[in-house]
Formats: sequence, C-alpha cells, structure tokens
Amino acid sequence: MKQIKVTVLGSGCAWGTPKPGCECRTCLSGETRTRFGLLVDGTEKILVDAGPDFKQQMLREGFCTNELDALLLTHYHYDHISGIGEFRSWRETPLPVYSTQDVLNVTFHENWYRHLVREGFLELKPIQRFHPFTVGGTKITAIEVDHGFPINGWVLESNGKKVAVMTDSRNNYRKESLALVKGCNLLIADSWVAREEEARKAVHEVWGKGKPLSEFEWTGSVSLSHSLLPQAKELGERVGAKLTVAVHLTHTVAPQKELEEEFNSEKFLVGFDSMKIRV
Ligand SMILES: [Zn+2]
Ligand SMILES: [Zn+2]
Repeated sequence: MKQIKVTVLGSGCAWGTPKPGCECRTCLSGETRTRFGLLVDGTEKILVDAGPDFKQQMLREGFCTNELDALLLTHYHYDHISGIGEFRSWRETPLPVYSTQDVLNVTFHENWYRHLVREGFLELKPIQRFHPFTVGGTKITAIEVDHGFPINGWVLESNGKKVAVMTDSRNNYRKESLALVKGCNLLIADSWVAREEEARKAVHEVWGKGKPLSEFEWTGSVSLSHSLLPQAKELGERVGAKLTVAVHLTHTVAPQKELEEEFNSEKFLVGFDSMKIRV
C-alpha cells in the first residue's frame, strides 16, 4: 500500500525566519523558516497553499507545478497565496484550485491572479466546507478553522490514512471540524509561539513604532488568531492524532533545537522546513 509522504515546505509565520534586519538570537542562528506550504504526496500529489517562498520550495524539494494534481487554499493572507504567480507552466489540463468562494474571489480578483485562469493555467473549483469531494483516489473535506475569522482547514484521506491541516488556527474549535480530524494519522497544527511573551515581542516589532518593548502596552493575545505550542499539543491529544506537527512559528521563539528539547514527544514534533513525514 502506498504511503502518504508529507513535506513541510514552509514552517514559518507571515514574515518568516530570519526576519530581515533582526538581531535576535534565533535570526542570528542562521536557521530558516520559509512561509507556510505543505506537499501531500499520496495517491495524488496535492499542495496546500503557495506563499511567497513557493518557487524556492519547489527548487529545494525538486518538484514543479506540472506534477501537482490539485492546489488547496486555506485563506487569502499574503503568506498563503502570493506564490500563485508561479503557476505558469504549461500543462495539458489546468490545475484545479479548490477553496471556498471568498478565498477564490480575493485571490483571483481581476487585478490580481485572474489572468492565470484566463490563460488556462488554473481552474477554480469553489467548494463548501464539510462537503467532501475527490481528486483521483484522495477524498478531501474542507473544515472550518478559526483564525479570528473562519478559514479553511483540510482533511485528506487516501489509502486508509488521514492527514489533517489546521494552520492559522486559534484554539477555538468547531465540533464538526474536530469530528472529522479525529483519529488522524497526522495533524499539521498552528503554533505561532511557545509563550505569550514571545507573541508580545513579535507584535511590538510591528506596532511598537520605535517604543522600547518594556513600554509597549499590548492587551491582545496570541490566541486571537493563532495558537501556542502547548495548545497545538493539546489539540493533537484531544483529537487522538497519531502524530501532531507544529508549524507557522515566528522568529521570536527559541532556536529549533531548544524547542525540540522542550516540546517534542512520541506524538508531537516541532516542524521545520523540509521535514518529511511518512504516514
Ligand atoms: Zn499565515
Ligand atoms: Zn493567516
């Protein structure tokens, strides 16, 4: 029976690691986290999201858009869709792009990527959450994930194996989504930071406007749109995932080796770029 090989194309947050100009310990360590992307290679080869590092991810992993059977989009944030301009290679049939209508409307707006559809590179396939469809032998269901607003998570099933993708998720879950993720072989979970203090640092960089961190007042919480590493771990336990991999980490977390020492266990791993998991 063919296994599903899952490759973490990008394990970083919206701005990635290192952050240009940043002199924090993690950025200076030389560690790289490109923006989110996931390749699920089972009976079909399915890509989840194409961010700004997508071209480099293809070159690094040795695949190209011609080999893909489908593209699934979680939501329309920059770090998840801005690599779509790379889908220009000729293929006999256009590549199907599955997502909810809101995501397709924004991403393929007339002044943005609509031309790729007109030119025959891509074909838009609007879907509804909780209504399964198939791509070849892979059954796919979009679930609802809370990113401060509802976005798409994905459940992919082939060869009796189940892979669930819940990136850009806060720790508020719809029970219908959890029911579909339950017992998955692999859960890709969101973890922006390990601790709230690291979130405060990251937010300060954007909104601090030059004020020292000690004077920066932030009443928000990472939990408004993302999760903490311990929350990702809890989610995996709650749904009985055989393995949970955390992605979407920002640069204010400790370097990977330290994260692994603190958080990795038999059923939970901190993700990294180019990580390969066989399910
Ligand atoms: Zn994101
Ligand atoms: Zn996002």
